[in-house]
Amino acid sequence: MSQSPILEAEDVTKTFGGLVAVDDVSVSVESGEITGLIGPNGAGKSTLFNLMSGFYQVDDGVIQFDGTDVTTLRPEKRAKRGLIRTFQLTRELSGMTVMDNMLLGAQDNPGESVVSLLTDPRGVSDFEQTHQQRAEELLRYIELWDLRDEYAGNLSGGQRKLLELGRSLMSDPDLLLLDEPMAGVNPDLTDHLLDRIISLRDDQEMTFLIVEHDIQTIMSISDTVIGMHNGQILTVGNPDEVRQDEELLEAYLGG
Ligand code: ADP
Ligand code: MG
Repeated sequence: MSQSPILEAEDVTKTFGGLVAVDDVSVSVESGEITGLIGPNGAGKSTLFNLMSGFYQVDDGVIQFDGTDVTTLRPEKRAKRGLIRTFQLTRELSGMTVMDNMLLGAQDNPGESVVSLLTDPRGVSDFEQTHQQRAEELLRYIELWDLRDEYAGNLSGGQRKLLELGRSLMSDPDLLLLDEPMAGVNPDLTDHLLDRIISLRDDQEMTFLIVEHDIQTIMSISDTVIGMHNGQILTVGNPDEVRQDEELLEAYLGG
């Protein structure tokens, strides 16, 4: 496994009023790995996640993506560089078909220069054709092809999670940030979802940072696990190492 960070947080701090949610955190995500971010409720996982994706601005510190300082870049700008987070399907998107959600995913996260496409009328149709084709491939890959004309609102919880993953893959991200991808997913679909994430790592060299409540699951697929507590990093290591971290164990037990 290559050991070079694709994402680095350096001395990052975020406060809400008097509360330090992320406290001078330095941590990195290795390229081509699945990194799990764990810790008890209120540890600061979601806040750190939002700082990385750009949904929150840091109070202090630096975020580097792929060797570039992205600290002040908005989420869309980070997305264009290949740093993508999944979105929960909103009510509006539930009223659209699975296929249209996929096509919209391409617009949310444009990989190409829209300007060059708009100046060339032939380019527009090529653009659409390419996206249509990619959406088809991805829907087969996540096994939602048979449901392509179904309204997204009619999908099960697990199928929605798969669609969220599929949408975010439309722009071919280098790093995908997933916040609780397994929440509300039944066991059959959990395995399918995990299997897709693992093959994206292995076949596409895609990097993942995953926040997940289900410790067993995240331990089973992660190359590296980051344990947080009280806004700080308690431990970083492979799952076996992190499982034995007493401090983290105590944090989970409410210590
Ligand atoms: P986790 O995701 O690990 O459960 P969070 O990052 O959501 O933890 O929260 C860390 C701390 O920051 C908690 O004490 C939480 O109450 C607080 N917090 C998170 N987001 C906000 C916010 N938008 N406004 C005020 N406090 C927040
Ligand atoms: Mg959270």
